Amino acid sequence: MVVNGAVNGSSGSSPSRAALANGSSGSGPTRTVLVTGGAGYIGSHAVLQLLAAGFRAVVVDSLENSSDLAVRRVAALAGDHARNLAFHKVDIRDEDALETVFASSRFDAVIHFAGLKAVGESVQKPLLYYDHNILGTINLLKVMAAHGCKKLVFSSSAAVYGSPKNSPCTEEFPLTPHNPYGRTKLIAEEICRDIYRSDSEWRIILLRYFNPVGAHPSGYLGEDPRGTPNNLMPFVQQVAVGRRPSVTIFGNNYATKDGTGVRDYIHVLDLADGHVAALRKLFDSSSNIGCEPYNLGTGKGTSVLEIVNAFEKASGKKIPLVIGQRRPGDAEVLFAGTGKAERELHWKAKYGITEMCRDQWNWASKNPYGYASPDSTKQNGSISH
Ligand code: NAD
Ligand code: UDP
Repeated sequence: MVVNGAVNGSSGSSPSRAALANGSSGSGPTRTVLVTGGAGYIGSHAVLQLLAAGFRAVVVDSLENSSDLAVRRVAALAGDHARNLAFHKVDIRDEDALETVFASSRFDAVIHFAGLKAVGESVQKPLLYYDHNILGTINLLKVMAAHGCKKLVFSSSAAVYGSPKNSPCTEEFPLTPHNPYGRTKLIAEEICRDIYRSDSEWRIILLRYFNPVGAHPSGYLGEDPRGTPNNLMPFVQQVAVGRRPSVTIFGNNYATKDGTGVRDYIHVLDLADGHVAALRKLFDSSSNIGCEPYNLGTGKGTSVLEIVNAFEKASGKKIPLVIGQRRPGDAEVLFAGTGKAERELHWKAKYGITEMCRDQWNWASKNPYGYASPDSTKQNGSISH
């Protein structure tokens, strides 16, 4: 069961050598990381990688867009490391509740995933987005500062770039987001830059994700959007399992190889590893990190038709396609310049679209209705390895 506190897992054995190298300072105790939004799609994968790397992880999540089953499955997949996982159902807009969590544990760093992410909804409900993504971030930073915790990895987005004219898009490109969601990410980044300018003890890494897709290869963790998916691959996945009849392609007359939009899809496992790499950088006392942005992408552009074809191959399912209008504000081509992350974080994406589609289909076929799938409860806490 998940309660406010430790997640029941198996009892412990000693941490592995790799764990000591990563999650602890060597001779010192295991490092503890607060993970906001750790029950969500990217957060759950990152928490599992953190535990495997020997960190202790305390998840806070309001479960606004996620299920506590994701946390229980992380615990089950983590095996012995589950003893290093705790969960608190907390809304980060509630400063007192955050204060209680910080009073109960000393955190060496925070990874801040919590927030709302649907671009279309952010246009309809901008105040809701500013409330979660900005007010929530300000609360978190205030409580961190009050407790002397000044190491942060923040989930930013390629949305901060808007629609750049050229790709690869590097971290120096102009920051001109097109919608309230992207603006919340830019404002949160600016707040982080201002905080660092005011107090150079802060060490902050802003991770600008490109297009996260895929799932944990076990098939037990994956993306489970509420309502109609906004993004391409969750939509494709729902068509493949029979929940929707077809995918509409948003324009096939772009100046690209096949006329459809090009993006940089990145496996969620690679993204999760990027967070471990970012933490290592924050804990590396020989590096002057300050407040730095890094793109997390593969550096490769893939068209809508290419990734849908790859998914058809992986799943053996035909995905009916309808050609529709361009989506307003969409970039024609957007992929990441990855050199800075490779050089400075020593991180590089390992997986291609074949693995992304294979793992996404494995998750979709085992959990056609996400964490609400009928057989989900059978997998509660009893995952075989
Ligand atoms: P997600 O919705 O699966 O996870 C976000 C988590 O935050 C959810 O579990 C949700 O319940 C929680 N949450 C939301 N508001 C909260 C609040 N006020 N207090 C506590 N918890 C709250 O989304 P994700 O895809 O895992 O994204 C994680 C982060 O990465 C988000 O900040 C998102 O903006 C950013 N990001 C995502 C993508 C993407 O395509 N998935 C791309 C770029 C950036
Ligand atoms: N797309 C599409 N149909 C959909 C959703 C998305 O053709 O139902 C296209 C979209 O125009 C873009 C690509 O797929 O070229 C990725 O879109 P997504 O919303 O997943 O990511 P983003 O545009 O935010 O990078």
